[in-house]
Amino acid sequence: MSKDISKIVVAIDGPAGAGKSTVSKALARDLQLSYLDTGAMYRALALKASRENLRSDAGEEIGKLMENTEITFGTGDPQPVFLDGEDVTSLIRTPEISEAASAISAHTPVRKALVARQQKLVAIGGVILEGRDATTVIAPNADVKVFLTASLEERAKRRTIEFDQKGQASDFREVRQQIQLRDHRDITRDDSPLTVAPDAHIVESGGVPVELVVQKLKELINNVVN
Ligand code: C5P
Repeated sequence: MSKDISKIVVAIDGPAGAGKSTVSKALARDLQLSYLDTGAMYRALALKASRENLRSDAGEEIGKLMENTEITFGTGDPQPVFLDGEDVTSLIRTPEISEAASAISAHTPVRKALVARQQKLVAIGGVILEGRDATTVIAPNADVKVFLTASLEERAKRRTIEFDQKGQASDFREVRQQIQLRDHRDITRDDSPLTVAPDAHIVESGGVPVELVVQKLKELINNVVN
């Protein structure tokens, strides 16, 4: 059955650095859909937890912290992220918060709290969401499911260029090691590990120009809309 594009749900998963954000933002802009960066929510909560001096392994407490936490988004690129009303857009993009977000995301109470919020946002429809469990847990009934992938080398190269462009010093080998560690955690955690949903389209982004990846996803979306 075909669907009205303004109600469509497109879920994109994949490992760190596979290009999910770039592709999701381009799709959301071109198709006039909203964009839900679920990783930004883990990052914002990790920031709040570190400010409250909670250790990354305090899963229960961090999950509970979410009860009194508002994470909201603005529009723009980079998409503004607000933590309890404070603009934390750049504060959540540091290597320390990348590491903390990855660590807290392994805990079930944290995932439960965030998935509940994310599902409320997705229920409105007309959304491109990206993450690690977008196709498997948050929106298993999404109209289009994509697993975006690229080699570790390719992803580390991409991340190093992004750091360079932001004027942040980075070392390719360190970036690669960090991504490898985050991949390992995402794939091996017990709760909602990063995996390819049975009905997801696997799309290779390594060495492929962004426009072509976006084009490919638009074709997949076109197949289900009227
Ligand atoms: O996507 P991003 O790198 O910003 O996500 C930060 C961290 O949050 C990831 O390393 C991943 O471990 C975690 N995450 C997750 N589930 C999601 C989105 C992100 O576990 N849906």
